[in-house]
Amino acid sequence: LVVFSDEEQHGDCLDLNEHFKEFLNLDMFEKTDYLDYLTKFDQFSHAPRQKKFNQKYTSYLTHLETYLSDFYTRALPLKNLAEERERIQSEFDAKWKDGTCEGWEYTGESAGSDLVERKQARTAEELEEDQDDFDADSDGDNDDDEDKAIYNPKNLPLGWDGKPIPYWLYKLHGLNINYKCEICGGASYRGPKAFHRHFQEAKHAHGMRMLGIPNTSHFINVTTKADAEA
Ligand SMILES: [Zn+2]
Repeated sequence: LVVFSDEEQHGDCLDLNEHFKEFLNLDMFEKTDYLDYLTKFDQFSHAPRQKKFNQKYTSYLTHLETYLSDFYTRALPLKNLAEERERIQSEFDAKWKDGTCEGWEYTGESAGSDLVERKQARTAEELEEDQDDFDADSDGDNDDDEDKAIYNPKNLPLGWDGKPIPYWLYKLHGLNINYKCEICGGASYRGPKAFHRHFQEAKHAHGMRMLGIPNTSHFINVTTKADAEA
């Protein structure tokens, strides 16, 4: 049996009262009333870009996403939420690639690595996993911090705006993990993406040649000489 609250009117209405309270505490938007909020709560591109990474806003979005997904599943049981997400995600990816996402237009500064380009608008699920890592995202709240020295205690790579990428993003991509490859003479690779890619690169191929082993897909993920020779 599908359960709706009174406010939800058997699935006809959203109940965003709790989210509205959280919204009012964000200090990112003009104060408004609940009805007004309902008409524009989904205009996410209106959030000031420099403030999108602050912790309160992130947890607000996470709660909103959790509720909306749950509501969608209850109110539209015959629709496939996963498929819908996939469709939206690929539309988003295309826009993101073009730099035409509303609120994320390129500013003309260096675009940064493809990592940063692809990520800053992550999904709420991803956010949830990294709730605890926002301590390092220090500059969400000040508008005047442009002039200050950039605080970067964890030595994070710099993003499109010349500031350290958020720590949750860094961790999301596993960049905090170094992978060693013995075949590459003990070289280490930062993050799983770089690590997996390196098997196709010249350095690794050279290492394999030195061992007299064909660098075929059969040997992908083999990083020790003992394994390669086995
Ligand atoms: Zn290697």
